[in-house]
Amino acid sequence: MPEAYTLVERAALAPLNTFGVAATARWLAEMRDAEAIPAVLALPVISGAPVMVLGEGSNVLFAADFPGLILRLAFDAVRVLDDDGTTALVRAEAGAGWNALVDWTLARNLAGLENLALIPGLVGAAPIQNVGAYGAEVAESIETVEAWDRQAARFERLDARQCEFAYRDSVFKREPQRWIVTAVEFRLAREARPRLDSAGVREELAAQGVTADPTPQQVASAVRRLRRRKLPDPTVIGNAGSFFKNPVVDAALATRIRAAHPQAPVYPADEGCSKLSAAWLIEGCGWRGHRDGDAGISAQHALVLVNYGNASGAELLAFARRVADSVEQRFGVRLEPEPRIVGARW
Ligand SMILES: Cc1cc2nc3c(=O)[nH]c(=O)nc-3n(C[C@H](O)[C@H](O)[C@H](O)COP(=O)(O)OP(=O)(O)OC[C@H]3O[C@@H](n4cnc5c(N)ncnc54)[C@H](O)[C@@H]3O)c2cc1C
Repeated sequence: MPEAYTLVERAALAPLNTFGVAATARWLAEMRDAEAIPAVLALPVISGAPVMVLGEGSNVLFAADFPGLILRLAFDAVRVLDDDGTTALVRAEAGAGWNALVDWTLARNLAGLENLALIPGLVGAAPIQNVGAYGAEVAESIETVEAWDRQAARFERLDARQCEFAYRDSVFKREPQRWIVTAVEFRLAREARPRLDSAGVREELAAQGVTADPTPQQVASAVRRLRRRKLPDPTVIGNAGSFFKNPVVDAALATRIRAAHPQAPVYPADEGCSKLSAAWLIEGCGWRGHRDGDAGISAQHALVLVNYGNASGAELLAFARRVADSVEQRFGVRLEPEPRIVGARW
């Protein structure tokens, strides 16, 4: 039997985050079995230290070294728990690759995750910020999240309502010290209900000669092509995808911005609120393609903060703050970061 976990001291994190910034973790545990999580957390050397889970590091910015324990979850089994011919319940352990899971479901003709193809990261991270893209959010497909509750010291099964999913948010993101997600169960459909209204999906399908009733596989490949064109590849240039969330503001403020800038995109949000395009606001302040040392905003996409080489996490954070400050001065809207910032406050 292989050991249930491996623990190393002073681990380098640069290869473990897609910004590629240098940082260290005091302790790093690679977990091969979820059942061993309580034992690692109870080790005397760990006692009282901060704990965080790291997936592929595609949504974190290390602004400083991490003084405690980082857990990496390597258990990655995927299986169908139940299939009634109309829908299937798929259980994926936290360490499975997200994009590999999307492919696995599509190969079994299960629909629901196709618009989320090619999002980097692991399955366990998908519910944390309720990953979303091209008109879909993972919350729509999640039935249950299984997690170790550090507060109650037991494994819990949370249904979708208990997860309190919202735009790039969940109970897990709001209480990062409490939850360690160990598996996710997805309810997926045999019959496709394509969502094609978002950012060029229909046009991309048409360009491939698909005009009616696309299959989930065809939607996934259209999304992949769009993503490859629009987003910088983190294996080539360090980034964490969108660095800023689209701000949800009071509808009156959105109306004032629209009056001053008729071309500003404004989307409906919850009652009395509107969602603005963070990319448009950033571009409006002239940041797209701007670089300062090794920190910058991608020329490809105004939402993407990039590390051109050796920027530190603190330098990237300082650059992002300058971007947010200028947007606030010009438009009166405060941008919030999407990734978790470790070792500094936003
Ligand atoms: C090029 C690029 C494109 C992207 N596009 C999108 C997109 O379209 N939509 C989108 O929503 N996101 C996008 N992202 C962000 C990112 O890919 C997702 O948020 C992804 O789910 C992060 O997965 P990860 O395994 O890398 O998590 P990490 O970055 O390692 O962790 C992210 C956060 O989740 C926590 N966490 C991770 N795993 C667990 C767990 N098992 N239990 C408890 N907490 C956990 C971490 O502590 C951290 O706070 C993109 C990133 C990049 C680099």
